[in-house]
Parts: sequence; C-alpha cells; structure tokens
Amino acid sequence: MVGSLSNRILVLCMALCLLLTGLAGVLLAGATQMRDGLAWVTHSSQVLAAASRTRSHLQEAESGERGFLVTRNQEFAAAFDEATAAARRSARDLVRLTGDNRTQHARAQQILALVSQRIDGLEQVSALTRAGDFDGAQKMVATGKGRNLMELLDSRITDVLNEERSLSSSRTDDVEGRLGYIRWLVLLGTPLTLLAIAFTAIMLIRRIRQPVDAMMTVMGQLGGGERTARIEGAMQSSEFERLASGYNAMADELQAAVADQHDSQERLHAANLELSINTEVLRERGEVIELLGGMAHRMQAARTDEELAAIIRVFAPRVLPDIPGALYAHNNSRNLLVPIAAWGGIDVTSAGFAPDQCWALRRGQSHFVIEQGSDIVCNHVVYESGEEGTHHYHCEPLLAGGEVIGVLYLKGAVDAESRFRLTVLTENIASALVNHRLQRGLREQTIRDPLTALFNRRYMEETLALEIARASRSGSPLSLVMCDVDHFKRFNDEYGHDAGDAVLQAVAVEMRSKFREGDVVCRFGGEEFTIIAPGSSAQVLASRVQAVRQGISELMVQQGGRILGTTTMSFGIATWDEGMDREGSALIKAADAALYRAKRDGRNAVSVDERSETLVA
Ligand code: GH3
Ligand code: MG
Ligand code: MG
Repeated sequence: MVGSLSNRILVLCMALCLLLTGLAGVLLAGATQMRDGLAWVTHSSQVLAAASRTRSHLQEAESGERGFLVTRNQEFAAAFDEATAAARRSARDLVRLTGDNRTQHARAQQILALVSQRIDGLEQVSALTRAGDFDGAQKMVATGKGRNLMELLDSRITDVLNEERSLSSSRTDDVEGRLGYIRWLVLLGTPLTLLAIAFTAIMLIRRIRQPVDAMMTVMGQLGGGERTARIEGAMQSSEFERLASGYNAMADELQAAVADQHDSQERLHAANLELSINTEVLRERGEVIELLGGMAHRMQAARTDEELAAIIRVFAPRVLPDIPGALYAHNNSRNLLVPIAAWGGIDVTSAGFAPDQCWALRRGQSHFVIEQGSDIVCNHVVYESGEEGTHHYHCEPLLAGGEVIGVLYLKGAVDAESRFRLTVLTENIASALVNHRLQRGLREQTIRDPLTALFNRRYMEETLALEIARASRSGSPLSLVMCDVDHFKRFNDEYGHDAGDAVLQAVAVEMRSKFREGDVVCRFGGEEFTIIAPGSSAQVLASRVQAVRQGISELMVQQGGRILGTTTMSFGIATWDEGMDREGSALIKAADAALYRAKRDGRNAVSVDERSETLVA
C-alpha cells in the first residue's frame, strides 16, 4: 500500500513547523531569560545607586549640620533637613530593593537603622544648635559617637555595594552567556532549518518527478502510435497511482476504440469489395443479357431450323465459353428429342432419344453429374458417348409456358456464376424455339393446302417467280408439271365429297413421295396439281412423271373402311425459256396445254409441251 502524497506533504510541513516552532521557542526562552538577566542587572544598579545615594545624602546632612553649627545660617539648616529626608528615603529604597536577597536585605535594614540612629544624633545636635546651645552641640559632636556610627554605616554600605557589584557582574556575565547562546542558536538553527526545507523539497520533487516522468514517457509512446504502452512500476503515491490507473483505463478505452475503428474499416473494406464484386457480376450479367438479347433477336428473325441452329451454335459458346454442348428439342409428335444444334466439338449424329432417357426431362428440372457416382447418369449420355465411364455433364430442361420443349446438354460442370448464364440462355432459347415454331406453323398455314398438306397455289406462284429468276440467272433448266385427276367428278358423284377428298389426299401423298426433294409439289386448285422442278429439263422430268403416273394408277384408294378403287392422272410438262414471262403464267399455260393434250389423248398419260421438247433437243 502506497501512502498519500498530500499526507506526506502534510507530515513534512508539520515537521518543519515543529522545527521552526521549537527554534522560535528556544529563541524566545533565551530572549526572556536575557531580559530577566538584564532586569537583574538593572536591579543591581538600582541597589548600588540607592546605597550610594544613602551614603552621599547622609554625608550631605553631616555637612549641612556642620555648616549650620559653624555659621548658624538657617540655609544650612534647610539643606540639612532635605539631606536627612533624602537619606531616609534612599535607605528605605535600599531596604525595598533588596527584598529579593536576604543577606543584602539584612544589611539594608541594618543600614536603615544606622541611618536613623545617625540622623537622630545629627538632629539632636541640630536642635541644640537651633536652641542656641552651641556648646552642647559641639560637645555632642566631640563625643565622636557620630563619627563611629558613620564609619560603621560606611562599612555596611560598602558591604552592600561590594556584594551588589559582585551580583551585578555575575548577572551581566549571565546575560552575555545567553546572548552567545542565542547567537549560536541563530547561526546553527537557520542553516539547519534551511537544510530541512531543502531536503523536504528535494524529497517531494523526487516523489513527484519520478511518476510524472514515467507518465510523460508513456504518453509520448502513445502519441507516437504505440497503443499498448501503459504506465507501470511504483508511482510513489496513491494520487499518482490513481492518475496512472485512470490513464491506463483511458488508454485501454482508446485501444479498444481504435480496434473497433479498425474492425469497422475492415468491414467497410469487405463491404466495398463485395460491392465491387457484385458490380462486376452485374456488369457481366448485363453483358450476358445484352448478348442473349442479340441472340433472341436473331432467332426471331430466323426462317428455318438451320438458321436457328446456326444462331445457337454461334451464341451458346459465347454465353458458356469452354463448355461443349448440344440442344435437343421435341419433334412434332413429341416422342423423340431431336438434335437442333451442337457446339464445342460435340458430334450429334444420332437420331435423338426418347424423353424418358433424360432425367432432366423426366423431372422437369436441372440434372447434373459433377463427380463420378454423385448422381444417376442419363441414358442418352451413356448412349451418346457409347461408354459407361466417367461423365461430367449437365442437362437443363427447356421450359416454355410450363411445358418441357427440349433439353440443353452440356458436357462439363457448370459453376455458380455460369448458372445464371445457363438459366438465361435456356430461357431465351426456349422462348425463341417456341416463337420460331409458332411462326413456322403460321407460315405453314399460309402456304399449305389444309386438305393435302401440299403447298398452295399462292406459294406455287411466288416460288415459280423466284425459280424463274434463278433459272434465268444460272441458265439451269426449270420445268413445270400441271396434272389433273381423271374423271374425278365421278368419285364425288359415286362415293361423295369425302371420298373425293380421300382420293386427293392419297394422290398428294404419292406425289410427295415420288417427286424429288427439290421439286415443289403444290395443289393448284380442285383436283389439279402443279410441280415446280428446278434444274430438270422436260425430258428428264417426263420419265420421273411417268413413274409418278404409274404409282398413282396403281393406288388403291380407301376411305372409311371401304375400297374406292383406283384412279389415274394426266400430266402436262413444259420448260421455261427466255421467251416466256417471268411471272410464270406463260409456263403454266404451256404446261396446261400439254395437260389438255394428255387428256385429249385418252388420259392417264404424260404429255410434254412441243416447244419445250424442241428446246432441249
Ligand atoms: P376430266 O377427266 O376431264 O378432268 O374430268 P373430271 O371429272 O375430273 O373434271 P371436272 O372438271 O368435270 O370435274 C372436276 C370436279 O372436281 C368438279 C368439282 O366438284 C370437283 N372438285 C373440285 N374440288 C374438289 C374438292 O376439293 N373435293 C372434292 N371432293 N371435289 C372437288
Ligand atoms: Mg380439272
Ligand atoms: Mg379432272
């Protein structure tokens, strides 16, 4: 337990006060004794003066008495009276003054008695003198009694004086001794007191300076950034200990506050980092959305499945770089997933797979295997790769209007960020695919004949004009077939309109299967058909038409479970030449004329426009 500094200061001050008080007391006592000594010296001098006065007044009385006796002058008598009175007073004074000293007092009383005796004697002489008895007076003087008395008195006074002088001398010595003592006391006491004060001041300064230095050092360290610096070690006093512990507590608070601030800064930094990462993610996502917007725009404008596939092949690898993939979509009958497009080195030669071969299609949600054995592998994946080995893949179903319309197969793992890209990509492809199919359906409706599913007359006319322009540019031949069901009216009449429709459908199927891929088979109207055959001359086409005619003639048309029998068709062929118009009406007319000839020649026949025959020949 460390003592209090203020208590120490109090104790030291009290000690100093005691010292000073002691010194002052001693000095005061010395001074008092000296004053007493001086009073005694004065007293001795008064005693001496009283004794001397007594003798001298008595001698004056003697002189006065003698003078009066000799001169009988009354003035002497008056002087005598004054001197006797003064001698009596002085003797009484002497008695009073020597009251403190028994020996001297006894002497003084003796002197007073002797003075009284002597004055009585002198007054007797004086009375005789006044009475005029000079002789009696002289006789009395002559007795010598007075002289003896005077000698005795003188001797007594001398004793008193000697004694008092000796006393006075010793008293003076005593006063001087005390003066010396006081001088020494002042000479020694003053430096001693000064030394005590200096010692006290040094001790106090040391007690204050040491902790103050320690605190200043630590404050400097703290100011210099050393936040762990604390005031330690002895503080010398409880006041400084409290100050140090208060300061240390403040430094702790400061350190905690700085640590808090540091933490806050770190959190802020982390938040900033997250924000910048999020910003980067958003920017990337924005780019992806922009990219996919471009893809969707192009897909909307795509006319054919091939164009659609080409767009997907370009954009899918840009959205999901380094991940090979393939897109499958339901066929029209929805019993098969057929490949639409593939990229990144995947070769999809297969004809597709059944929907139940894919777990993503079955469950209607993502299905992926990122580690061997982590999940079941889709059969179509095993089938495509032709092995049971390690598969890292991802199947994402294409959903449109709550319906699964296909699947995106990716050969590889899809990380968290790519998930977003994948989701947006599949959503875009799905909606574009649905749109494309919708558009294609609508377009089909406008160009197809609903009964036979062949191209309609409007499409035929548009295509014919295009093919004429192409043939004119390339110089390749372009032929046209006009054909008509023979005696079709009879079917209608005999079996009804539906039977007629069934004949038309059967004939259409036959023609579609027999003509080439590039030939455009159209229903011209009623039971008349037109076939545009680009790149074919009339002669070459004639043999193909013959085969078709043959096939139709062998057709056994059935309708509603009954056999309607066979039918035949007549064909007219013409080839376009520069002499004809570019819309195709002259060509149609020429083919129609050839058809008319075939009808005229007995039907179930093929007739070639004469000019067209010549043209080729
Ligand atoms: P030809 O051998 O001279 O061509 O005789 P045809 O009976 O085939 O010719 P015609 O022009 O006299 O008769 C054509 C008939 O075809 C008349 C019409 O009622 C019928 N027809 C036209 N369009 C359709 C159709 O879409 N369905 C049915 N069932 N009949 C149709
Ligand atoms: Mg007809
Ligand atoms: Mg007909």
